[in-house]
Amino acid sequence: MKCRICGQKAVVNMRQHKLALCKDHYLEWIPEQTERFIEKYKMFTREEKVLVAVSGGKDSLSLWDILQRLGVQADGLYICLGIDGPMSPTGEGLSYSSESQRLTEKFADERSLKLHIVDVQKEYGATIPQFALKSHRGRGKPCSVCGLVKRHVMNRIARDFGYDVLATGHNLDDEAAVLFGNTLTWAGEYLLRQGPVLPGTPGLARKVKPLCRIYEREMLAYALLRGIEYIYDECPFSVGSTSIYYKQLLNRLESDRPGAKQSFYLSFLEARKSGLFAEREEIQAELHLCPKCGQPTSAPGLCSFCRMMSR
Ligand code: SF4
Ligand SMILES: [Zn+2]
Ligand SMILES: [Zn+2]
Repeated sequence: MKCRICGQKAVVNMRQHKLALCKDHYLEWIPEQTERFIEKYKMFTREEKVLVAVSGGKDSLSLWDILQRLGVQADGLYICLGIDGPMSPTGEGLSYSSESQRLTEKFADERSLKLHIVDVQKEYGATIPQFALKSHRGRGKPCSVCGLVKRHVMNRIARDFGYDVLATGHNLDDEAAVLFGNTLTWAGEYLLRQGPVLPGTPGLARKVKPLCRIYEREMLAYALLRGIEYIYDECPFSVGSTSIYYKQLLNRLESDRPGAKQSFYLSFLEARKSGLFAEREEIQAELHLCPKCGQPTSAPGLCSFCRMMSR
């Protein structure tokens, strides 16, 4: 297989795009694609300040790397969740959170990038697993509490430090799996909010997903070829999750029909654009600012985060 651009030996073959590229051209192609999607979906302008949520994984660190290469002014935010878990032999004795934090800090230091670090236990008094045990949300399973806390912290840091945009490293596989789950239950409100850009509201930064059209395996190849050191282990709580199960199902579909995942996601975006999921006006009107933290919420009185904290 030869690189379509220079004819040298190709290292990546993307059946879904009918495109094979050598290392150098692949490392140029991914940032070019990302830039194309940033512009196509009007994610942000060069004047805006971007905050990238980084977890230490391949997608978020690669996103940060790509934004730097594109000349975007982007700082990082790492949230220490306090999650311990089994590690590879080389990381013996380390927890999932401290190893991912170490790699994120190393990445930022080597490139002289600004990184905000929020330690959930230090700032809010408990780790994510401890919060989950105390909360009725998910009956001790931490993912729902974790999502709530991460959203709150990301919104807070973006607001307090004046960032216009919050960027996350969700790739096409992540988005297709979420879409699949929401479609199985026709979760209208979630379908309406899913997309490359979630517009901001007063006090809430716009949320964007610049990698939403790039396959997970393409991001993996990018991180490896670029030599980015990232945490290989997944969060121990992700084992057996429905989103991983949906990803596996979609991978089976993709291997029989290359491009199926992309077409599933893109046709959804088209359908949404043409008004298949019309917004109910009262949903927007119901939002008010939480009297405690000042973030917009649809819950009556305090937002879900502040209610959990007060419990
Ligand atoms: S798998 Fe669950 S607990 Fe782990 S980082 Fe993701 S949401 Fe949080
Ligand atoms: Zn080439
Ligand atoms: Zn609140």
